[in-house]
Amino acid sequence: MYIKNRILPVPQEFEYSKGEDVVLGKPGSAFYRLEIGDLPDASSVKGALDLLSDHLTGVLNVNAFDAAGEIPVRIGMGKAPSGMKNSDQGYCLEVSSDGVTLEGYGELGLFYGALTLKQCLVLADNKLALPYMKVTDWPDMKTRGHFMECRYGSNLMTLEDWKHVVDHMAGMKMNQLVVAVYGCWCVQYDGRVSEYLYVPIHKYPKLKTPVVTRYYSPTKSEWVDRECLPPMFEQDFLGELIAYGKTKGVTVFPLFNSYGHNTLIPAQYPEVSAKDENGEPTLTGFCTANPETYEMMFNIYDEIIDRYLIPNGIDSFHVGLDEVWDGIAVNSEDIFRIRSPWCKCEKCRDINRKELFIDHAIKLLNHLKKRGMKNIYMYHDM
Ligand SMILES: [Zn+2]
Repeated sequence: MYIKNRILPVPQEFEYSKGEDVVLGKPGSAFYRLEIGDLPDASSVKGALDLLSDHLTGVLNVNAFDAAGEIPVRIGMGKAPSGMKNSDQGYCLEVSSDGVTLEGYGELGLFYGALTLKQCLVLADNKLALPYMKVTDWPDMKTRGHFMECRYGSNLMTLEDWKHVVDHMAGMKMNQLVVAVYGCWCVQYDGRVSEYLYVPIHKYPKLKTPVVTRYYSPTKSEWVDRECLPPMFEQDFLGELIAYGKTKGVTVFPLFNSYGHNTLIPAQYPEVSAKDENGEPTLTGFCTANPETYEMMFNIYDEIIDRYLIPNGIDSFHVGLDEVWDGIAVNSEDIFRIRSPWCKCEKCRDINRKELFIDHAIKLLNHLKKRGMKNIYMYHDM
């Protein structure tokens, strides 16, 4: 049996030993029993047990917790060999005459070990069997993930769709999903500015971004623009997604574009917008000399932190800050006019962009730090 190919990604260490395959069951009969040791109380540990027991139950059609066969399948925590990199995500899985032993070296390690065991457990020749083997595995990189910043497609994704993304990532032993919840781009395919906001901000109800679906109506004999709000916004499920991620070892946290990629906020609340030389709002960027800008940004951050992050024990936040650039097509009313996110009001105009940027970043980061955020991400292409 060449079982190593079933394990994704390829484990760091894998060895076969001599011996007969260990047969854990055949459809309708289980020859194993679960022996679950002292495990930490954590979402990903519960997720690991669910993952394994659901799979075993499904593949043999015998409830895994009722299985009372002779072969022990031990699941517990162990001590990592010294020097193992990212050992809290490491595990060891051994199959021998002694049965199956899975030891996680941390909560995530146990999850990945359970996943590896699940990947190995495939019904073949009408039996569920494993060869004598030893898998020792750990990740080279502490975080492995995706950054989802997409204005088409994800703006129509339901909670089930997002859960599918998490499942897919967890299946590849990835552990980080950053969801951009606010972003803006220039006027694109439907003649409108491409803007999206995936979380409702109750203090600022004007902030919302209907998604336009265009279709041809035979009954009306015309093209119809159907508008609906993004499901994540309308059903307000970011918190649920974060909680779900934790059961799969995937940390989900938000990105909120906080300087560039920002036209919705300044267009709806022009008092915080960057100003041009005449003091007119440019409807992009911020006036960073206006205290109202920070009152608003901190209120927005606070809603996100209080509603989604703190209840789920998340202390990571991405503030964006890339592409604070002058550009055309920022507003659909005048797509050829160059608009600037850099404020030219009396207070801002004499400060160079570097200083404006650094001062803005420090203000935002200080607030997030005060609110308990320990991992703050930002871009740096100024
Ligand atoms: Zn200003």
